[in-house]
Amino acid sequence: MKPALFIDGHWVDGDGAPMPVHDPSLGQIMAQVPAASAHQVNLAVQAARRALPGWRSLSGARRAEYLQGFARHLQQRREGLIALQMRNNGKPRHEAELDLDDAIATFDYYAGLAAQLDARQDQPVPLQAPGFSAHCRFEALGVVGLIVPWNFPLVTSAWKLAPALAAGCTLVLKPSEVTPLIEQVYGEIADALGLPAGVLNLVAGAGKTGAALSQHPGLDKLSFTGSTATGQRVMASSAAFCRPLTLELGGKSPILVFADADLDQAVHWIIGGFCWNAGQMCSATSRLLVHESIADALLQRLRSALLALRVGNPLEQEVDMGPLSCQAQWRTVCTYLEQARNEGLECLVGGHALPGPGWFVAPTVYTDVPTSSRLWQEEIFGPVLCMRRFSDEAQALALANDSAFGLVATVISADLQRAERVAAALDVGHVWINSLQAVFVETSWGGTKGSGIGRELGPWGLAAYQSIKHLTRYLG
Ligand code: NAD
Repeated sequence: MKPALFIDGHWVDGDGAPMPVHDPSLGQIMAQVPAASAHQVNLAVQAARRALPGWRSLSGARRAEYLQGFARHLQQRREGLIALQMRNNGKPRHEAELDLDDAIATFDYYAGLAAQLDARQDQPVPLQAPGFSAHCRFEALGVVGLIVPWNFPLVTSAWKLAPALAAGCTLVLKPSEVTPLIEQVYGEIADALGLPAGVLNLVAGAGKTGAALSQHPGLDKLSFTGSTATGQRVMASSAAFCRPLTLELGGKSPILVFADADLDQAVHWIIGGFCWNAGQMCSATSRLLVHESIADALLQRLRSALLALRVGNPLEQEVDMGPLSCQAQWRTVCTYLEQARNEGLECLVGGHALPGPGWFVAPTVYTDVPTSSRLWQEEIFGPVLCMRRFSDEAQALALANDSAFGLVATVISADLQRAERVAAALDVGHVWINSLQAVFVETSWGGTKGSGIGRELGPWGLAAYQSIKHLTRYLG
């Protein structure tokens, strides 16, 4: 097997302990990947530092050509990447395809923004004071560390790599220990495109490798996606250097269904919101709030639809939902199911693991869950939905906003004025109105409260890797 580390333009084996990589549908090891040692992380950061002056002084137009190359190569490797995500993540085919398309769209979009950068440089800034002129430059922040989780490996990494490269930053990416093979493609493409050595470095590894990267003094910025608990640790290490940080963390997002909703449509969006990727989504809308007048009818349809959901190995059959991506996550979800039994929660459907091999859990719904329940408050990261009824809009909003997180929300109502009013009052970073969770590269991504700091995607995603410098001149 090819080495998993790409440092300074070379493929090397990790010096650290081997990490088993699994096929979660079978619960079997599919590869062993040695982790990068702290010394190798240091070599990667140094390589990125050496590559920085050359890369950031290239024109935006030239960097755009490289980014287009990434999009083109991802497309060329389409079938292999879809198969790898199905095997290593347990994603159904249609989900693996969508992730790949999303990653391609991200590189294309930031190629467009990189190409516009040259014309945006040195724009005059209108001043009220006479006798002075000022203009603005957008400069690359420098060497950035990127740390990502396993649930959408191609996409989450693309959301960081593409804007960082577009801005002129050089980088060290640490993929998750659960899916270290998938992001190797970015090293392979960098290699194939002849990206200058050291611009993009990959270090495989688990928390120890992540800590070595996040604590490294040679970074100018860290962008982290993962759990809130690890985000807090990463934030503490950045504080030591006063360096900028983007944090994309967890969620416990609400989906609000008003009395005028189309029930079949609502069921479709509710299921998409907590069963897509087997519920392993930061944006899972795992708290269902339903108007009391339609609650029973909605629950009946939801139960039937969930019982009909096809759960299984995506490589063996066409499925709607695959396994949890790793055994640790499967155990976590099973612990929450046990907690629900201990709390005496009312289970509408599911509530148990499915027979192996593999790490499967039945789609699960608990009804009329008290707000004091851990299942109502904590991110479960599996196909588990908690439901409550509301009697009016004010109560729905109060329940929705009563959370330590603030990533996303979905509002379902035939009354668009009401939907917009509710959306405006929700304390989150993104609201879908009568929609599946469609994420477009042109719109922003990020949350409030415990869901993180900063925004990815759109022009905000590029700005996250830029430093702004103003030049002010006395005209005499
Ligand atoms: P995690 O926090 O356990 O790990 C995330 C990454 O951090 C991994 O690469 C891991 O190896 C690394 N890491 C672990 N300990 C570290 C340390 N001490 N220092 C530096 N790095 C360290 O999260 P996970 O279980 O891989 O992913 C699930 C979490 O990610 C969920 O909470 C989910 O909501 C969140 N997530 C958020 C978004 C978003 O955009 N907001 C997107 C996807 C996932």
